[in-house]
Amino acid sequence: MCTDTKLSLSRSFAQLARTAEKSKASIAVSKEPLETPPLEIHTLGDRALRKEARRISKVDDSIRDLAKDMLRSMYTAKGIGLAAPQIGINKQLLVIDLDIETPSSPPLILINPEISNESATVETYEEGCLSIPGVYLNVIRPSEITLSFRDEMGRPKKMKADGLVARCIQHEMDHLNGVLFVDRVSDQKQLQEALQEHGFQTTDVHSLRI
Ligand SMILES: [Zn+2]
Repeated sequence: MCTDTKLSLSRSFAQLARTAEKSKASIAVSKEPLETPPLEIHTLGDRALRKEARRISKVDDSIRDLAKDMLRSMYTAKGIGLAAPQIGINKQLLVIDLDIETPSSPPLILINPEISNESATVETYEEGCLSIPGVYLNVIRPSEITLSFRDEMGRPKKMKADGLVARCIQHEMDHLNGVLFVDRVSDQKQLQEALQEHGFQTTDVHSLRI
């Protein structure tokens, strides 16, 4: 009995260690830029960006591989967030890393994210997007959010976020609904000028401002 318990305990420890190792390894990609990124990032005007993303029913190796390729593409483009629709994949998956200069700091992988609460307090902050390169404009968003999601191992998680993380999560979650940050820009004059300057069409903006 005693031996059995010990055995099963040591087994469960081994299992835990393996799970921990796997969990760590599942998102361990180099942050060094690649000569050729694995995925092409779609830009404003591309219809892929306007599709609604589907929920992921099973978090398996194919999803983890996709997250890794998204991270590699994001690091190569020097971005801090990337959503699957930006690389033409219609799934509710996004990756975020606010510390791209620190190799050991882990990225955030969010699967099927849902915001359950947002603060009444809003903040204005300048946003940019890998799908609209060169364009940086002010967007107003709730300053704090609470969300639930699954991590890269499929585990259900909840988190509260504020500051740049909250901003970035909301921006990336918009992508899952086919919404781009330029749709939320209030200053239409600045928006038109910035888009024209960088070769984008104002008709590709689906303004949410009334
Ligand atoms: Zn974006």
